[in-house]
Amino acid sequence: MDLFVGCDLGGTNIKAGLVDISAGQVLLSRSTPTLAQEGPEAVMGRIADLIRKVIAENGASMEDIQGVGVSAPGLLDLEKGIVLFLTNLHGHWPNVPLQSHLSSELDLPVAILNDARAITLGEYTFGAGRGATNMACLAIGTGIGGGVIVDGQLVLGLRGQAGELGHLTIDLNGPRCGCGNKGCMEAFAAAPAIATMGVKVVQRGQATLIGELVDYDLNKITPEVIAEAARKGDEIAREIWKDTGSYIGTGIANLIVTLAPERIVISGGVAAAGDLLLDPIRRTIKERVFLIPVEEIQILTGELGNDAGVLGMAQWAQLQLQAASRG
Ligand SMILES: [Zn+2]
Repeated sequence: MDLFVGCDLGGTNIKAGLVDISAGQVLLSRSTPTLAQEGPEAVMGRIADLIRKVIAENGASMEDIQGVGVSAPGLLDLEKGIVLFLTNLHGHWPNVPLQSHLSSELDLPVAILNDARAITLGEYTFGAGRGATNMACLAIGTGIGGGVIVDGQLVLGLRGQAGELGHLTIDLNGPRCGCGNKGCMEAFAAAPAIATMGVKVVQRGQATLIGELVDYDLNKITPEVIAEAARKGDEIAREIWKDTGSYIGTGIANLIVTLAPERIVISGGVAAAGDLLLDPIRRTIKERVFLIPVEEIQILTGELGNDAGVLGMAQWAQLQLQAASRG
């Protein structure tokens, strides 16, 4: 059995899983609150503790583990093994040596990667991307992350920063995005933007179930609520998904003409909308892509749910070890 630990550092929770990489299986996983306000040193200590706990609880010992992969939600410099900027974590972690710190704490090889790239690699190796050679993945939640596989390899780009698909421009004059640009896909189609569309139709008094489903508490309107209304036949809610799908489909059309991938995987919480989201994405791609046979491109939701990142990081740790042993 080839044992690795995959770990995801999130704004709210840290999750770690012991992975049998040859079987592509998470044997045991645990999570703990991040408590980011305590600062990077304390959080890295909690990551190391959680990793040790997962290993011990499964009855394994540190010597059984070949390597550890840790994903983080933001910009990393993979060449230096450091964090540059974590969007939603207290203090934003500039220049934190995540890789070397954890490696010396655990006395194991540690690899780091952006969290959406981890999901991409997980789905590609063990989930909805299996068997494809070229694939793009969008992880749609609070933001939109992404990753790209070309010729069977995760594309890294300059300092390992390729794949920020949420920041494809889809409207020249669109709203300002957190990244500094205007009109990014993320500003139109991440969970908060979808929820805002729901709030607006309720505020305008349009005939929709959305308000009723949350007892008119507008703070409770989420993409899940809008999906529930749509499934009950609510036309206004279906329109919101059509708009969301056309925004995301426009970004994906740009990806398709760039990469001609045979598969696009949609992951993250918003992917639970399923065909409410996928059908308008497929329609938009047909309307916008003429040079590439889009009928051969599969648009699918992820298969691995919350395990995608942990599995992806275990796989990334293994790939980095293999690369190191080849010199
Ligand atoms: Zn942006």
